[in-house]
Amino acid sequence: CGIVGVLGNHEAAPLLVESLKRLEYRGYDSAGIATINKGKLDRRRAVGKLVNLSDLLVHEPLAGKAGIGHTRWATHGAATTTNAHPHRSGPVAVVHNGIIENFRELRAELAEAGLRQESETDTETIALLAHLYMQRGATPTEAARQTLHRLHGAFALCFLFDGEDDLIIAARKGSPLAIGHGDTEMFVGSDAIALAPMTDRITYLEEGDWAVVTRAGATIYDAQDRLANRAEARIQVDA
Ligand code: GLU
Repeated sequence: CGIVGVLGNHEAAPLLVESLKRLEYRGYDSAGIATINKGKLDRRRAVGKLVNLSDLLVHEPLAGKAGIGHTRWATHGAATTTNAHPHRSGPVAVVHNGIIENFRELRAELAEAGLRQESETDTETIALLAHLYMQRGATPTEAARQTLHRLHGAFALCFLFDGEDDLIIAARKGSPLAIGHGDTEMFVGSDAIALAPMTDRITYLEEGDWAVVTRAGATIYDAQDRLANRAEARIQVDA
């Protein structure tokens, strides 16, 4: 399973699929991507091998230079298209590796607020929660920050927001996540191998970190939301 994110100057979908291919070695049962095209969030998901997602994208292309992608190894809910990531609620799309342990409590709280899940996953709860905070007036970044404080468990995840084609929020707790630096482009990936075709300039998030990523760079915060200084290194991986 794996995660990728692209804030680029070229079409994101081919880059996302290429990066996901480089994460295939980890195993997965389904895959999906979301992009922002002219401000509009859209997604494609497919069960099985990445070639199924590629085939779908031939018939139903996704344009846009910003996007997130995911290979899923199901933990909660069967390997179906509905359970595949990215998950979406209103303006919020999320890809996630790991497990949200308190999703049942959160789901009950969200149902009371009128937000109901379509899937059986723990992950969709994250999208709903961020959507709820945005309904209550939070900006995307603030909604993501508030959401992260509510999650128990292990995760690497990325948020993408409708109307925001220069923003990915990335977070890590228990699963590694790397930020890739390009020249006026930025990337997120489960590891440096995934990002090797795009960049070798990598910043690893530390435990509990979350990052506000735009094409201008990444601002990284620690688990207490304090500005964190994380080094950038050149990582040699065969591209
Ligand atoms: N727990 C999530 C799910 O079952 C994420 C699984 C994964 O790590 O891919 O959808």
